[in-house]
Amino acid sequence: MHDDRQLIEGRLLRTLQRIEDAVWSSPVPVDLASWEAPGEPVPVAEGLAAAYEPAHVGQRWGAPWGTTWFRVRVQVPESHAGRPVDLRLDLGFDPDRTGFHVEGLVYRADGTPVKGLNPRNQWVRVADTAKGGEEVELFVEAASNPLLLGGGGFDFRPSPLGDPETAGREPRYRVERAELAVFEQEVWELQQDLEVLGQLAVELPVEDARRWQLLRSLDRAMDRLDVADLAGTASEARDELKDVLAQPARASAHRISAVGHAHIDSAWLWPVRETVRKVARTCSNVVALMDDHPELVYAMSSAQQFAWLKEHRPEVWAGVVERVREGRFVPVGGMWVESDTNMPGGEALARQLNHGKRWFLDELGIETREVWLPDSFGYTAALPQLVALSGSRWFLTQKISWNTTNRFPHHSFRWEGLDGTRVFTHFPPADTYGSEVSGAEVAHAARNFSDKGDATRSLLPFGWGDGGGGPTREMLARAARLRDLDGSARVEVERPDRFFEQAEAEYPDAPIWVGELYLEMHRGTYTSQARTKQGNRRSEHLLREAELWASTAAVRAGAAYPSAALDRLWKVVLLHQFHDILPGSSIGWVHREAVEAYAAVAAELEGIIAEAQRALAGAGDVEVAFNATPHERQGVAALGAGPVGQVAPVEVHSEGDGYVLDNGLVTARVDHRGLLTSVVDAASGRESLAPGSAGNLLQVHPDTPVRFDAWDVDPHYRNVVRDLTDAESVEAVEGGVRVVRRFGQSTVTQLVTLPAGQARVDVDTEVDWREREQILKAGFDLDVTTDHSTSEVQFGHMHRPTHSNTSWDAAKFEVCAHRWVHVGEPGFGAAVVNDSTYGHDVTRRDREGGGTTTQVRLSLLRAPQSPDPVADLGVHRLRYALVPGATIADAVREGYRVNLPVRTVRGSGEPVEPLVIVEDDGVWVEAVKLADDGSGDVVVRLYEGLGRRCTTRVRAGFAHRGAYAVDLLERPLETPGVADEGDAGVALALRPFQVVTLRYSRA
Ligand SMILES: [Zn+2]
Repeated sequence: MHDDRQLIEGRLLRTLQRIEDAVWSSPVPVDLASWEAPGEPVPVAEGLAAAYEPAHVGQRWGAPWGTTWFRVRVQVPESHAGRPVDLRLDLGFDPDRTGFHVEGLVYRADGTPVKGLNPRNQWVRVADTAKGGEEVELFVEAASNPLLLGGGGFDFRPSPLGDPETAGREPRYRVERAELAVFEQEVWELQQDLEVLGQLAVELPVEDARRWQLLRSLDRAMDRLDVADLAGTASEARDELKDVLAQPARASAHRISAVGHAHIDSAWLWPVRETVRKVARTCSNVVALMDDHPELVYAMSSAQQFAWLKEHRPEVWAGVVERVREGRFVPVGGMWVESDTNMPGGEALARQLNHGKRWFLDELGIETREVWLPDSFGYTAALPQLVALSGSRWFLTQKISWNTTNRFPHHSFRWEGLDGTRVFTHFPPADTYGSEVSGAEVAHAARNFSDKGDATRSLLPFGWGDGGGGPTREMLARAARLRDLDGSARVEVERPDRFFEQAEAEYPDAPIWVGELYLEMHRGTYTSQARTKQGNRRSEHLLREAELWASTAAVRAGAAYPSAALDRLWKVVLLHQFHDILPGSSIGWVHREAVEAYAAVAAELEGIIAEAQRALAGAGDVEVAFNATPHERQGVAALGAGPVGQVAPVEVHSEGDGYVLDNGLVTARVDHRGLLTSVVDAASGRESLAPGSAGNLLQVHPDTPVRFDAWDVDPHYRNVVRDLTDAESVEAVEGGVRVVRRFGQSTVTQLVTLPAGQARVDVDTEVDWREREQILKAGFDLDVTTDHSTSEVQFGHMHRPTHSNTSWDAAKFEVCAHRWVHVGEPGFGAAVVNDSTYGHDVTRRDREGGGTTTQVRLSLLRAPQSPDPVADLGVHRLRYALVPGATIADAVREGYRVNLPVRTVRGSGEPVEPLVIVEDDGVWVEAVKLADDGSGDVVVRLYEGLGRRCTTRVRAGFAHRGAYAVDLLERPLETPGVADEGDAGVALALRPFQVVTLRYSRA
């Protein structure tokens, strides 16, 4: 037999093209009118009642970020009577950029939503059986969101379109089609048959007889088709395909649980307000599609997105609630948003789960069990424990398939976190969270699935995300045909919990991955948009203080606890931890609004803190210091307040070509270049800086990633470096040395000081940053030999290599740390702590005389040009410090201190006793608050932070009836090792990095 594959495959593509043009027939034009809202989106009623003007096909419309309302009026012609009739509207859609530009939501004249309009979903069903002469009137709220990052593929040139202040008013779109047409059901069904079989055939091995069987059947079906009368001959062609479509899947076929989904970024190339509408459009589509397709199951994450729908689009929300009750619209994730998990602090991650799960329980009575983070940029080793403590049992992501260096070895596995907790985890092997259920994707999932042989199942999220409208009827048609089809994986549309139950049960010996899921990409997200990161860090610590002092004031002074305000403020902070906001990868508009939101959060929290502290300090004129850290400070108890003890002052004097600073605990030298040349702590008497090197050396590198500018920092940045060793001035000032440097167009002013009574060298930095596409680092060359650094993460710390032995080690050339990074050898170490920075790199080099020097650097600032061309430009103020001679416990303590400065208030001078005291100085309190349920119970979250087993005791300094362990939702949780021993306190036996939440019932 001759090999005629190419000819038949080519014939099929051409035939599908003809069929596409025949799915709708007999179009008639509609009467089109439009009204452009003057600025921001208007309420639906206002849009419906606006003064419309005539519009037409071919009309240009849509200034960037504008909203145009279209009104469609048409009378169904008698010729269409008895047939299914659709309205077809093309507002200028680009099918290849679905989710990234123009979208619409269709309403009836009474304001009820019908469905969304999207690039791959341009139709609205007018009637299944049309009546001739019937008048149709529909409205479309169309958003002219500009296309960013280029068309047809990503382009990272700077664009002014990401902010309405620079985007201009030029219309971006053109009405391409507005007509009423007959939907040819049988032609459409034939299109689905041909696509599925054609796509399956090309995925099969050439040696596989099934491939040839499909090819021959397709060829015969096309013979039966009259291209001049596709509607009249489609059934005959379909008959020819019945047999091959009926052949069942092979016994060993991979099983795919297909879950309808739309990954909607809560802000990214559009502002938060547009996400509210994207969610409404997609949910309208899903609810409408469920009417026609009882088999559709749709999973939606992010309680925040449900809450937006309820608040802003109650008419869409009502339809969603109905489908949730049927079990087909499935809330997943259990987090407030799909947050970043590298940077949010421990308490914030706990609150993502607390607020997310609690919202689903309160509003829908549903306890989500799967944490759903397909797209975040790496996953902290703290997550498995928090997933379990929230009452969830499974975890899903897909992002690690984006690794540029190493291929992750598993698709289904048990993920072991810092404390040893294991969570069954799945990576969809289709390598996408927005599948079309294409033959290529289904075949790739089956081939790519690493665990075949031991496991048989994977999950496939399908649907257009980001406002592309979610699942389509075409995807469902493909899934139906692939349910049991020879040559293909079996595709079953089903709930994600059904998948996880079966996948976990069939794979009891699933392999184990220990520690973080580091994403070998997007390492610039630890640094981009420094103001957003600083806003997050400040907000997290202000929330800690506000809850601590407000609950202390409630218990000690009977003050009212501001539950509603704290709930609202937490949700603002949690929203901004979304995986394109906190990482700094959104347009300028989003980051401008984030900075404003953080300022408002800070102002309100400062008010709550001040009011609580006034209530606690009492009347008088004695200075009282409030210590929100979990460590005693200057004689003031941890989590308490009292008069400040006396500490030795800092001495500064000139010596040689520089200055010497001394506070009795640390002696530091700053030379004529303004660099630290010696730092010796009195306790060890040992020099922390490497011989002949410097500390606090600012370095600038070109920072021009290959793509994904705001997201990525590529290793080639290290090839070129400029050391900022020239100082414009170095002078002694009260308590320290001030250094001013100018470089490029920028200026940096640093104040190097030794804080009184504390063993640190503080560097307070103000930068007027005017460099573009450069990265600014601050480095400390430390006299330490080690093969690993230790970074603070949520509720603990983790080690990472300082070398690049393997490709896995080499890929971690930039890492995320919270308040500190520590390096050490037995008996000696040093830490670099910070108040705003997350990106770090730690490297080693050899030196004369033998041995190695370890360099710890903070990544202070970048200035990527895309998607925000003015990212990071302007004035920043950042603080970091060197802790010489530090143990890990010292690093933890100084990390808290730098982020939680002492607040002094005038009052009676009576100490404020802490609500709780933990006896072990390695078990730290992360939150003190009143219970979410308004009972007045006190909730205390603490963790073992040194990575060892320990026993300790927590004593409560207030009247209570009893204490017990609870989960992150503050529900009783059976926790071995926690025992309430009455007046003796709560006895704890903790494993390394264990998190425990105690709930005290108030007397
Ligand atoms: Zn995303």
